[in-house]
Amino acid sequence: MTSLDDLPLRDDLRGLTPYGAPQLHVPVQLNVNENTHPIPEAVATDIVTALAGAVLGANRYPDREFTHLREALARYLGHELTPANIWAANGSNEVLQHVLQAFGGPGRSVLGFPPTYSMHSIIASGTGTTWRAAERDADYELSAATVVSAIERERPDLVFLCSPNNPTGTPLSLDVIEAAYDATDGILLVDEAYAEFDPGRTALDLLAGRPRLLVSRTMSKAFAFAGVRLGYLAADPAVIDAMRLVRLPYHLSALTQAAAVAALAHAGEMLAMVDEIIVQRDRMITELAELGYLPARSAANFVLFGGVADPRATFEALLAEGVLIRDVGIPGHLRVTAGTAHETTLFLEALKRLGGPGDSTASVG
Ligand code: PMP
Repeated sequence: MTSLDDLPLRDDLRGLTPYGAPQLHVPVQLNVNENTHPIPEAVATDIVTALAGAVLGANRYPDREFTHLREALARYLGHELTPANIWAANGSNEVLQHVLQAFGGPGRSVLGFPPTYSMHSIIASGTGTTWRAAERDADYELSAATVVSAIERERPDLVFLCSPNNPTGTPLSLDVIEAAYDATDGILLVDEAYAEFDPGRTALDLLAGRPRLLVSRTMSKAFAFAGVRLGYLAADPAVIDAMRLVRLPYHLSALTQAAAVAALAHAGEMLAMVDEIIVQRDRMITELAELGYLPARSAANFVLFGGVADPRATFEALLAEGVLIRDVGIPGHLRVTAGTAHETTLFLEALKRLGGPGDSTASVG
């Protein structure tokens, strides 16, 4: 049988493993930080009507400039942004790929602060960009001094910050982002995939007058639209022009554009569950601590918790109860998405039956 080793694969891809969060169909899926609340039916009906119109015109290529979608996203973000400030792609993963294709690549480097979103380094390798990792402070925090000294040491072409950070939940204060911007003459990207769960704080406030600052967002999380694949970016119009150099023509299908525009017209309803998810996140933090685990501070829709004697065993024991969470590879830790009140209860009850952090191999139920 042919294996990867038999193929003339690029040397820099040899030995790498692909992104691989398990996709298992179990009753309680709390592993990839989706919004687990379904889309309101009235909104779904409007989206289907918009899709029907798009299907009827699908003999033609879609609007390469996705003009209506950029208008809708600019309106949603506010901050006096115009469509000229907006880029979009099939998930913010593709947005990040466009950014690295345009500003990274062979001979260039991107600096990140693990533990952080695993795709940052994977997209770096896919685009031939060298990934440089610097350490965080205690409790996964990131101070301005730590970021600035890493930038001065590594002199990267790009810096990726993530706020709130996946998988830790840690938010970044805007003065850290300002200090990072001033310390680099390269591109500073702030990945704000979970921004709606951290209300009132966004690097969009810093965009004016900072042409090398990029803020990426997604409809996959708070917006409950992960299946549609729509991520976006706000930046100076010159950055958006750079994205046009590397995207494939017509990269956003007419169906994607129509669905996203229709959903954005109902932003209030799509985001209606965010406050409730924040309540469940905070409940998870409280109850995990009561059980003796060590939950990290989180401004996102998930919680990383330490004090897990055997993460693999706990993961498997929860799975046997129909609860899927995530082993993110940090020793002694697991990550869980805040779901509906019912899902959160099922997770916490299953965990309680395991008998506490010191005894994660105890039999379940
Ligand atoms: N950034 C972060 C921090 C994420 O956690 C994720 C999804 N897990 C993404 C980007 C990518 O999301 P999508 O491609 O669905 O927009």
